[in-house]
Amino acid sequence: MKFYSTNDQNHLVSLKEAVIKGLAPDQGLYMPENIPRLPGSFFENISQLSFREIGYEVTRALFAEDLPEQQIKELVDHTLEFDAPLVQVEDHVYTLELFHGPTLAFKDFGARFCSKLMSLLLGKQQVKVLVATSGDTGSAVANGFYGVEGVEVVILYPSGKVSELQEKQFTTLGGNVAALEVEGCFDDCQKMVKQAFLDPELNQQMILTSANSINIARWIPQSFYYFYAYSRLQKKREKVAFAVPSGNFGNLAAGILAERMGLPIDKFIAATNVNKVVPDYLAGGAFEAKPSIQTISNSMDVGNPSNFYRLLALFGGDESGLKAKVKGFFYSDEQTRSAMKAVKATSGYTLDPHGAVAYLGLTDFMAQHPDAYEGVFLETAHPGKFQAVVEETLGTKISLPDRLAAFLKGKKKVDQLPNDYGAFKKYLLT
Ligand SMILES: *Cc1c(COP(=O)(O)O)cnc(C)c1O
Repeated sequence: MKFYSTNDQNHLVSLKEAVIKGLAPDQGLYMPENIPRLPGSFFENISQLSFREIGYEVTRALFAEDLPEQQIKELVDHTLEFDAPLVQVEDHVYTLELFHGPTLAFKDFGARFCSKLMSLLLGKQQVKVLVATSGDTGSAVANGFYGVEGVEVVILYPSGKVSELQEKQFTTLGGNVAALEVEGCFDDCQKMVKQAFLDPELNQQMILTSANSINIARWIPQSFYYFYAYSRLQKKREKVAFAVPSGNFGNLAAGILAERMGLPIDKFIAATNVNKVVPDYLAGGAFEAKPSIQTISNSMDVGNPSNFYRLLALFGGDESGLKAKVKGFFYSDEQTRSAMKAVKATSGYTLDPHGAVAYLGLTDFMAQHPDAYEGVFLETAHPGKFQAVVEETLGTKISLPDRLAAFLKGKKKVDQLPNDYGAFKKYLLT
């Protein structure tokens, strides 16, 4: 399979190049040259298949020319080491819990797939992954890449500007994950990383990569759990809708990839907080990036969603096709909190603020189409990750899951780094 840039259909690269580069040189996003349709027999038997078996099938359809069967198995087994259970919340309303991985958020799927794929594609070559983080990216990448052979991770983060729990999630691992505490802000960290990628001397001596969120290897595995959720749904109604709490729109675009591969999803709900660039577009406006606004569902505070062009590409640039398949909904923090309270009161289920936005989008959509849909909304993070907001909203204590609490007991291992590119370069060279 070759991959093209969303900015230039004729710029084709190999899987290896797409994964190591991350972003195309023209700043476009990589996309598979063609989207294979899975055979009818796969969908007939899907309820009998395990999560991993579904993952093999999807990966094989895309990468069979690039990876031997044994490596496809290794890759998927490493990615799907935890489940994504479908839990009924109300009649015809289900949540897909994507928070059972090491950092309790759905980004674990992409980080694990990406790290393993890099290691398989590079063979004996070593690669250094450089990440600047203000919190969450660092923990997902660190945990996804932890212990993966041939890959070294270097995380730069601003001293004193990351929450204790987040810091512990990427500074206590050790092994192939190094953390650099920078005397500076997040932008300083990012500047040093960007400078390293452009440094000819460094690039001659080592393979550097970013593993950033738009990497095709972080994007593709997010399609697995749409197939899986569909396979476990007891369909009592004819049509299925999926609601996705969205920020950069990678997750939603992965759902549409699944649909394009043949999964019969009738509608997608693009649910956002007040950062509503995409809902505005879907309602007939132009696509217009805006400065981001801070909300309680802060992983979705994105004013310029980078996967928008992937959404369009999945419809061959046909905007009416995209608008027919995806419906936009957006909500204020107040509405989000009300939904968290109402769901807790009626069904006992604890939503995190991101899942609550998706729940709202799904139930509002279903109310517009009575009796037509089975609905699934994605729970992208464990409520314990947003403990303060959840406790304040619900007025009850919630406990941190063991996996998260364990990080707090870990010992922080970091190197201090002045805000100076020369020092960073020296660190990388030694
Ligand atoms: C990253 C993230 C999102 C947004 O996902 P996109 O793929 O960027 O749209 C939603 N919820 C949580 C908890 C996240 O961490």
